[in-house]
Parts: sequence; structure tokens; C-alpha cells
Amino acid sequence: MTEIRIVNLQKEFKDLIAVRDLTITFPSGEVTCLLGPSGCGKTTLMRMIAGLEEPTRGDIYFDDLKVTNMAPSKRNIGMVFQYPVVYRGLNVFRNIELPLIEDKLPQNERKERIREVADIMGIQDDLEKDITQLDNSTRQKVAVAREVARRPKIILFDEPITNVDVDSKDQLKEALKRLTRQLKQTIVYVTHDQTEAMTLADRIALMRDGAILQRDTPRELYNHPNDVFGGWFLGNPGMSFIDLEIVEKNGSKFIEKGFFVQPVRLTGQIKDSKITLGIRPEQIKVTDQPGANSNQAKVVRKALIVGGQVLVTLSMANRVFKAKLPAAQGFPKAEIVYVEFPMNKVTLFGGDGKRANIQMSVVPNA
Ligand code: ADP
Ligand code: MG
Repeated sequence: MTEIRIVNLQKEFKDLIAVRDLTITFPSGEVTCLLGPSGCGKTTLMRMIAGLEEPTRGDIYFDDLKVTNMAPSKRNIGMVFQYPVVYRGLNVFRNIELPLIEDKLPQNERKERIREVADIMGIQDDLEKDITQLDNSTRQKVAVAREVARRPKIILFDEPITNVDVDSKDQLKEALKRLTRQLKQTIVYVTHDQTEAMTLADRIALMRDGAILQRDTPRELYNHPNDVFGGWFLGNPGMSFIDLEIVEKNGSKFIEKGFFVQPVRLTGQIKDSKITLGIRPEQIKVTDQPGANSNQAKVVRKALIVGGQVLVTLSMANRVFKAKLPAAQGFPKAEIVYVEFPMNKVTLFGGDGKRANIQMSVVPNA
């Protein structure tokens, strides 16, 4: 079990700051997915952990051992890249076996480890095949198996599914899920694909412009992003954001009328005269009938999306936003619908795009 601790790590390529004063701990024995758009510095961070890239400043520790300037071969890390690294001219068994021979493991131990990992990755029937006979997905499984069989303390994956044919992506994802559930190692798994991160991660570290914005469980990150970026980047589509005015009445601050049926008072650190309400499209309640807590909205657009859900674009009090209706509900029957924003599903953001430390409470008859 090894924890990876990164302290004030920075990497500059001439004028470009690829990793920016980054401090984070990847907990021992957990799967952390490093999720962020292309170019945000994920690979650079991985390469520094592996020792393939030298930091401009800052430090990396494996438990209490400082490894910042340690040679890659001394770090006891396994790494799987975007493109499968395999040895041509050798069969699958030998591909996995080679590093085990280098580690001077006895033959029966090698056999046992190979059989075990081949089972998890679903390549037990491919062991005798030549590597050149295999498709990209199976080759990647072999590359994964080889790294895992060595039992390094830490395993780094850098977008291992990205370059696999569409048909076999899911199959490889399944195999990786099986694998990461079983491994006791510390795993950092880089991806730009949110569903991959949601499926595999114990925790997701959301990255943008060389910095980590938030590290949380997939659920928490999805429901309560610390930053509008997280709301926007996760979800399909991302959060609906609605800018609302803050109005003062009798010395208290309220959300402008029209979105919540009852007056909603705001307390906490209110710095601006506006606030941004964020909510996941599927958490907005849309019905054909008026309800005690709903307001009227107009349907601007509607479309059927994945899983038979309906995505509607709604207009209410001059704001346009998207809501997702369950498949069972189907399309709205009329152009006018009734909308409720369940308050416990709402996240409030300030003018700086950060989650605001502001609480909402319903004050009837205020
Ligand atoms: P990601 O893996 O998130 O897509 P990278 O870590 O590959 O991002 O890249 C982060 C930034 O650093 C990008 O702007 C990229 O162009 C730049 N970069 C990465 N490697 C180098 C390099 N060797 N030389 C110069 N710039 C680089
Ligand atoms: Mg990358």
C-alpha cells in the first residue's frame, strides 16, 4: 500500500505552465481518476509521478519516501499508455512473462500470476497467440496484464481506452473495472471521458489548466461541484445554470420572484447582487399539471436522447435552460409545462464561478 503525495508541483515548458503549483494526495489502495479536458496537464502529471518528466519545482512522495528525482526504474510503478506497448514476435504468455523473468521470479510463481491476471482480463484463451494476431483492444489487455502481473506498488493508466476500436471499448472498460476492483494497489487513472471516470473511480480529481479543482467521490462531484466548470464538464448535457437577481426586503436577502413559488431567503456570504443557480437537468421536475411548488414554463425545444429520456429546453421568467424527463414520462403533452427546482438539489455559485457559501430557506408569506 502506497500513498502518492504531491506537493506544490509545477511543470513549465518554456512559457507554458502545464502543471500549476499542484498539491494533492492519491490515497493508498484507491482508484483515483484524473479527469479533465485534453491539454489540461494530465499526462504531464503522470509522467512526473513515473519519473519520465522532471518537475520544474515541487516534490513527489511515495509514503514518506521522496522520489522527485529518483530514476523511473527505481520507483516500482506500472504504467499503461494510450497505445498498447507490447513485444512483437512473442506470444501473449511471453509478453506478460518477460518482466517477471527480469524480476527473477521462479517459473511456477510466474505461471500462477499470469494465469490469474489473464483470467481477470479475459485473455486466458489468447495466451498462446502471437501478439501480431491480436486486435488493439486485446493488445491493450496484454499490456495491462503485464504491468499488473509485476505487482508494482502503484499503477498509472493514461487513457488506456482512447485508441481502442469502438466495438471493443466497453469490453475493455469492463475488464479494467473488474481489475481495478480486485487490485490492492494505488491506481491513478487518467481520462477525459466522464463516464469512464464515473464507472471506475473511488474518487475523481477534476483537473483544469494544470490545477485540480476538486477531488471527491463521483456522486459528490456530480451533485455538488465546487466550481461551475465541474457542473458544466460533467453530465450530458452539463448542469443547467440560471443567473438570478438577489433582492432585498426588510433587511433580508431573497432570490428574485418567479423561480421558486415561495419566497427563498439567502443567508451566508453574499458578495454580489446576483447568484447562479446550478442544477442537473434530470433533477428539475417537469410536469403537465400545475403543482403546489411549480411555476409555468414554455417548451422551446424537445428531443429524444439516450435511454429514451426527453431533453427539453424551457423558458421561464426570461431564462432558458434544459431539463431531462424520465423515459417513462415521455414528451410533454403541451407547450406549457410546470417546473419545480427541488431546493436540496440546487447548488449556488458566486460571480467568481465558485460554489458559494450561501444557504437557502423558504420563508412563507415573506
Ligand atoms: P493532457 O494529457 O491533459 O491532454 P498534457 O499533459 O499532455 O495534457 O499537456 C499539457 C500542456 O503541456 C499542453 O498544452 C501541451 O501542449 C503541453 N506539453 C506537454 N508536453 C510538452 C512538451 N514536451 N513540450 C512542450 N509542451 C508540452
Ligand atoms: Mg494526455
